[in-house]
Amino acid sequence: MNDQVLVLGGTGEARRLAAALVARGVDVLSSLAGRVADPALPEGAVRIGGFGGAEGLAAWLAEHRPRAVVDATHPFAATITASAATAAAAQRTPLLRLQRPGWTPQPGDEWRFVDSLTEAARAVAGFRSVFLTTGRQGVGAFAELPGRVLVRSVDPPDEPLPAGATLLLARGPFSLADELALLREHAVDVVVTKDSGGHMTEAKLTAARELGIPVVLVRRPPLPPGVPTVATVEEALAWVERSEVRPPAAGGGPRR
Ligand code: NAP
Repeated sequence: MNDQVLVLGGTGEARRLAAALVARGVDVLSSLAGRVADPALPEGAVRIGGFGGAEGLAAWLAEHRPRAVVDATHPFAATITASAATAAAAQRTPLLRLQRPGWTPQPGDEWRFVDSLTEAARAVAGFRSVFLTTGRQGVGAFAELPGRVLVRSVDPPDEPLPAGATLLLARGPFSLADELALLREHAVDVVVTKDSGGHMTEAKLTAARELGIPVVLVRRPPLPPGVPTVATVEEALAWVERSEVRPPAAGGGPRR
């Protein structure tokens, strides 16, 4: 086992965790999927690209022997989260899931939770002007929407867009003033989002509340069973510090 911590990233939390670990002198390697053309890079070492499923990640862990893995991927990145749980268990590598809390409705919110993008598409089929902020992947579920659809994503979607779509390429954070202006400009009458949580993209919810616009939220996939989970970077740091590799005991005893 070496002293490296593998952070599965692609989120603001992962970048903040990597920066905090670097600041503490921890050897950190951040892993990105390589989906975004121009990713925001974390501090410290970075590798980019998939591992090849749970088996590939298990082989990677066997070869590189990091002391711990923090899965700080997006709440909707369910495949890599499942791979991490399987691979870490197989290699007996300590694994932590860092996942920010979902959003909670405030007074004045008109929210409807659904289980999938398909269900979200059904829920908004009767609206005239939909603001779709579910990200690039899965946009095809909305392809048959009859009305106007403002699609916002970081990179252009590969999947077919609805006939009445306007594509807006933008990366958060977004200000409340900008979200209010956007909703008004496009006369949006319903917002669709994943329950991603966090502050970076929260302003659209505040804007919807202020304008009395309903919001359809896709529920998160379940957490992997048996994996300790924390909600904040600070808790993840404390966990990493507890997982610290200790120097060998006098007489060359085994390292933890
Ligand atoms: P996913 O469906 O769980 O993952 C698909 C595949 O991408 C995985 O099987 C894995 O390939 C690879 N992968 C994903 N995250 C990786 C990472 N951090 N390092 C190395 N390989 C990774 O994930 P996704 O929804 O496509 O998201 C991809 C990345 O974008 C994630 O890092 C996530 O944190 C970030 N992100 C996702 C969303 C979202 O809404 N889903 C939003 C913002 C950011 P192999 O099987 O080959 O290992």
